[in-house]
Amino acid sequence: MQDQHIIETEPTQREGIFVPLDLPGFQICQQFWQEDGTICVTIMAQTAQVCCPRCLRLCTKIHDRRLRKKRDLPCQAHQVHLMLLKRRFRCEACQAVFTEPDTVCGRRRRTTR
Ligand SMILES: [Zn+2]
Repeated sequence: MQDQHIIETEPTQREGIFVPLDLPGFQICQQFWQEDGTICVTIMAQTAQVCCPRCLRLCTKIHDRRLRKKRDLPCQAHQVHLMLLKRRFRCEACQAVFTEPDTVCGRRRRTTR
């Protein structure tokens, strides 16, 4: 039986999964195995405040969040589905609602080694 991988770990131990992602500025919110054997990783930007594009004030009030599928990365023998939790902010000064800037696929275009 060579198929004894971490896949068979019980769901209660899923926090032990470690996916090495080279994504500076992001933190991993959640990661879990999916039924097809792929790993789903949800990441979020670490910044707590974003500059309002309209009035340029710093905003910390999160309006809502939504998941966006970013890309699939091969991680060792497994396929990783990278999901970015995008936050939308509401500016308290001008009431503008805007999505935080996308930095995952920005100039730091690094994925995994
Ligand atoms: Zn504003």
